[in-house]
Amino acid sequence: MMRRLVAATTAVLLAGASASCGTPASGFATDGRLHVVTAFYPLQFLSERIGADAVAVTELTKPGAEPHDVELNPRQVADISDAGLVVHLKGFQPAVDEAVEQEAAGRALDVGSVVPLLPAAEDDHEHVPGEPEHAEGSTDPHVWLDPVRFATIADELAGRLGRIDPARAAGYTARAATLHRELADLDTEYASRLRTCARRELVTGHTAFRYLADRYRLTEVSITGISPDAEPSLRRLAHVAAVARGTGTTTIFFETLVSPKVAETVAREVGATTAVLDPLEGLSEPGADYFSVMRSNLTALTTALGCSS
Ligand SMILES: [Zn+2]
Repeated sequence: MMRRLVAATTAVLLAGASASCGTPASGFATDGRLHVVTAFYPLQFLSERIGADAVAVTELTKPGAEPHDVELNPRQVADISDAGLVVHLKGFQPAVDEAVEQEAAGRALDVGSVVPLLPAAEDDHEHVPGEPEHAEGSTDPHVWLDPVRFATIADELAGRLGRIDPARAAGYTARAATLHRELADLDTEYASRLRTCARRELVTGHTAFRYLADRYRLTEVSITGISPDAEPSLRRLAHVAAVARGTGTTTIFFETLVSPKVAETVAREVGATTAVLDPLEGLSEPGADYFSVMRSNLTALTTALGCSS
């Protein structure tokens, strides 16, 4: 609640400031590049790959930060007002949604509107009452972890950039086509390496891998639900441990930007080990990118699930 008030107040102050300066948002940087603001890493990756030298990308979530509950400073709200395009995922980061609504109406691409989103799992509703995160509650945001859906989003983004910046539309389209092929290759790798596995249950920290599970016929059992820092209930822990035992799970996955403590507790209880599965909400290692993290995840999955190819 406090956070929403602060964001709203900041937005009002900034709106006043820019109105008094009399500089309308141009959407382009002084060097002529299209100014694109991205809400979190996978959207930054798409924008940089498709935009290349034609765009100046500003990201709202710092590298290494957990994006679910990002808060915006006045500079970032000003970036949103100034952007030619804001790329975000409605329902994932309430502070970003609010700023987009107030500052960038008509200049935003909600990537969740490009492909149908999966409904949020039942277990994700174990929230602290009054928590704003995932208030819409009905959809799962982690769509970028499915390369096929992500490629559809890439194509849509290229089309949108081309309409805003028609002089460079051919470049956006060509780079999106290349990216689409690379994502299709990644999908082929996933499908073939996960085809034959001893187990298909994926025990994870927070519910981030359902699009991936949906694509490759795995079942995700998560410990904390959709908010990574929620405390799981004892009932939930007992349920996850029972599933892990019942399916002969050898690995409990934890993720890079969140403490592994809960995963370690469950692993100890069922005699499993822990390993990293990165939900790619932000980059945790310098030099990594979407493809390198997705391939590390694939290796971790084939090991944990006992896949034979
Ligand atoms: Zn998440």
